[in-house]
Amino acid sequence: MKFDIKSVHGQGLPIFINGEWLDAGSGAQLPSLEPATGREWYRITDCTPAEVDQAVAAAQAALKAPEWCDITQTQRAGMIFDLAALIKEHASELALLETRDNGKILRETTAQISYLHDYYRYFAGMADKIEGSTIPVNKPQVLNFTRHEPLGVVAIITPFNSPLNILSVSLAPCLAVGNTIVAKPSEHTSASTIAFAELIKAAGFPDGVFNVVTGAGAGAGQSLISHSGVSKVAFTGGSDTGRRIAASVGDCLTQANLELGGKSPHIIFADADLDRAVNGAVAGVFASGGQTCVAGSRIFVEESIYEKTLEQLKTSALEVVVGHPEEPATQMGPLATRDQLGKVEEFVRSAKEEGARLICGGNRLEGSPYGDGFYFAPTLFANARNDMRFCQEEIFGPVAGVIPFSSEAEVIAQANDTRFGLSAGLWTRDLDRAMRCVDSIDSGTVWVNTFRSAAMMSPMGGFKDSGYGKHNGFASIRDFSRLKNVVVDYSGQKQDAFVVKLK
Ligand code: NDP
Repeated sequence: MKFDIKSVHGQGLPIFINGEWLDAGSGAQLPSLEPATGREWYRITDCTPAEVDQAVAAAQAALKAPEWCDITQTQRAGMIFDLAALIKEHASELALLETRDNGKILRETTAQISYLHDYYRYFAGMADKIEGSTIPVNKPQVLNFTRHEPLGVVAIITPFNSPLNILSVSLAPCLAVGNTIVAKPSEHTSASTIAFAELIKAAGFPDGVFNVVTGAGAGAGQSLISHSGVSKVAFTGGSDTGRRIAASVGDCLTQANLELGGKSPHIIFADADLDRAVNGAVAGVFASGGQTCVAGSRIFVEESIYEKTLEQLKTSALEVVVGHPEEPATQMGPLATRDQLGKVEEFVRSAKEEGARLICGGNRLEGSPYGDGFYFAPTLFANARNDMRFCQEEIFGPVAGVIPFSSEAEVIAQANDTRFGLSAGLWTRDLDRAMRCVDSIDSGTVWVNTFRSAAMMSPMGGFKDSGYGKHNGFASIRDFSRLKNVVVDYSGQKQDAFVVKLK
């Protein structure tokens, strides 16, 4: 790969438009820091509106190019299968790029990127099986059917925490349907998306089908989402940014999928298998340093087992191995940015001020071996209340409040007492209770006796302030296509065209 870990170091990375690499030229550049050391390791182009315009124009032209719009679905599937094979071949280089970029442990980026190979294969397999339906109407000799068409140019905006994984949940279905794409990764983590463009080219996708612009969200990102040539915005990021994007795209009537933040409840009932529940709760909030949208940052524990569970949670939290993300034994790496570190500290301060009791962590990790990296200790607060600020706002860091509850009704009310609705987890051996909770919990995903479990077949997406639209499975084919209804009258009868037939 041209953009492997060595070649990226110290470089200004190009953007990718219409199958070509464009160097930064004399325009502004932004630095990208390595979270494990706090040092700059490459720079990106801060794209201007003109460069964004060029990328959208390339994507629009590709939509109409015979080598993309006139090929069969099976040929399109073939390119996606080839892309999947290339991802498999280069998985370790891509994983290392992401770990360097966002500090996520190499074992996890490796697992995520290895999975992408299957993800693209799944959607490649779907590309030539996207069927509409034939719908009977109350009129003889009329054929009424639907078909899925490409939407057009899709802008994919991704956050810093899992750049390629989040790009792919939109990109794979987009390619399967026949859309063209302009991607804008987070300014903090652009390297893997730029490298990925190389694989797109090698897989034989026509020029302009996939383009990458880089730069600041408020600049390049805003120019992209508000561009009149974009048919849909697939945005993953924070709820406040999502709200701004919804307002912008609403103005142009552009469609949007918004995959936003969360504040997931993790409920442990007294009859749960406590070892499994504690393991799930600790991994659920400390995996990726809590920088996952589904982080289980509100841990509700039934009163009768509260003290015992607190002890187990604390013991497990203290055992989490925090260290360099490339070390095989590490379970939690640094936070992705210095800003994140400051934000987490601020939440810890507010939790203390509101009377929560710190039982472990609560501080930056400094000195050897952490150096100037953005490390924060796994942090738990006891005696937390659901209405405390750190239990209501998304922290995106390794911090959870442990909240006691006395009844099923009370915990469901508290679990739902949040503006978010992305995911929830619960641990119980009582199936009836589990299903009652599933019925009552207001979130897009509910996990029972497991947590943070995702699959390419399972629709994922939030309720409430966690956004709208679905990733994965056939739901995402629906989200990235437009449904056309076709009515063919082969009766040969002259119709009374002055009266619309509503039957
Ligand atoms: P942000 O909302 O800050 O940014 C997300 C992306 O949007 C970045 O590429 C950012 O660019 C860009 N952006 C910012 N402002 C604009 C704008 N006005 N127009 C267009 N693009 C813009 O999120 P983070 O990167 O901080 O990621 C963390 C958030 O992502 C968390 O809230 C998390 O819950 C959420 N998330 C949700 C997931 C889900 O599936 N629901 C999955 C993963 C994360 P730049 O970085 O350059 O500013």
